[in-house]
Amino acid sequence: MNPPIVLITGGSRGIGAATALLLAGRGFAVAINYARQADTANALVQRIEAEGGRAIAVQADVGDEAQVLAMYAQVDAKLGRISALVNNAGIVDVKARVDEMSVQRLERMMRINVVGAFVCAREAVKRMSTRHGGSGGVIVNLSSAAARLGSPDQYIDYAASKGAIDTLTMGLAKEVAEEGIRVNGVRPGLIDTEIHASGGMPERAFQLAHTVPMKRTGTAEEVANAIVWLLSPEASYVTGATLDVSGGR
Ligand code: NAP
Repeated sequence: MNPPIVLITGGSRGIGAATALLLAGRGFAVAINYARQADTANALVQRIEAEGGRAIAVQADVGDEAQVLAMYAQVDAKLGRISALVNNAGIVDVKARVDEMSVQRLERMMRINVVGAFVCAREAVKRMSTRHGGSGGVIVNLSSAAARLGSPDQYIDYAASKGAIDTLTMGLAKEVAEEGIRVNGVRPGLIDTEIHASGGMPERAFQLAHTVPMKRTGTAEEVANAIVWLLSPEASYVTGATLDVSGGR
């Protein structure tokens, strides 16, 4: 039997990379999307291959429709039709109040985190849906605890982009439930990855750890475990759900 095929956007580092390693270990052929750091993505492919798995690296900015279409075309040609999408690529921006946010900043945030996730989901549905001749599949969208907390004085634009992801999960799950596709979300809390450095606050997760009921940051693997479960047949009756992986925060 052919192995199941998963596309992980932003799969080269952090939560995406941890998910890629777990899924490769479970027999998935893994397409690892990245934006800029080809070396990091290629090193992960080599690691998966060294462990006996199958993976490819695919460059694309998910905020650019033409690049997303080219990414899917590459995955179709090199691995085949996906049965799982981890809609994981996402960005934060530097700390700012709403009264300081430019339209350029807001448009970049929404283009990558919201439009990118929609277009990646759209292309997945075209390949998975029984309505389009597919044989079903699973989508997991990466939200954030920020969608519930609002992120005042840090980045409400990011929090709002993740609120949109929660709505995408809920609505799309209902839209394609009869077409063999489950759609769920994961809301990570403070996870130790490089995303905080990209927002100019490398120590952010550790500095805020005292606000977490469990009094610690989470690991990328702890989030990946939830994603892998939602993708698995053990979650066969779960759709439209968003699972908090946030230490109680
Ligand atoms: P990360 O460590 O910053 O890794 C980001 C990944 O996304 C990298 O593979 C990066 O590729 C890729 N990427 C960035 N911009 C992209 C774009 N425009 N198109 C395609 N790929 C892009 O991130 P993370 O912390 O693992 O976060 C993963 C997801 O979880 C995000 O959606 C984030 O919002 C969410 N999340 C994270 C936390 C947390 O505390 N870490 C909390 C809540 C939610 P390059 O290496 O090429 O740049």
